[in-house]
Amino acid sequence: MKDMMKCEFPAKSVNEGFARVVVSAFASRLDPTVEELAEIKTAVSEAVTNVIIHGYQGGEGIIYIECEIKEKNLIVKISDKGAGIENVQLARTPLYTSNPDGERSGMGFTVMETFMDELEVKSLPGVGTTIIMKKQISSQEDEASE
Ligand code: ATP
Ligand code: MG
Repeated sequence: MKDMMKCEFPAKSVNEGFARVVVSAFASRLDPTVEELAEIKTAVSEAVTNVIIHGYQGGEGIIYIECEIKEKNLIVKISDKGAGIENVQLARTPLYTSNPDGERSGMGFTVMETFMDELEVKSLPGVGTTIIMKKQISSQEDEASE
């Protein structure tokens, strides 16, 4: 049986903390380091913020999260049924933002790529966006913890 979990909740910034905690709680099974957990939480925050700001543009919508553990890997899938992205390659370019009003820096996807091992972005304008992130968790067996 697949080792996975699914959850969905309203795309509101008050739920960003919940998303970080729920993914890191699931990931903790792999016994990640404090640093790895912080990286996972940061990547989740960036993805969830994108859904709220760009996907649903501050309006109503649902964030769908699916996580899977495969051997030592954590796979996190975050989806929305929002605006979608016209040019994914451009959107992934460091410093590119469609909101250049000074509030956004265009570094969200770059942060996700840096902190996770793999990032896949699938999107259809008017249909929605799914991002899939994968991270291999280092084994802490050799460390002094019991
Ligand atoms: P920052 O994350 O630094 O605050 P940003 O959100 O603009 O700025 P990225 O997170 O790298 O930068 O995203 C780049 C662009 O990709 C966004 O400006 C937006 O146009 C598009 N985008 C990202 N996620 C989504 C999404 N879920 N739905 C629609 N568009 C998205
Ligand atoms: Mg962003």
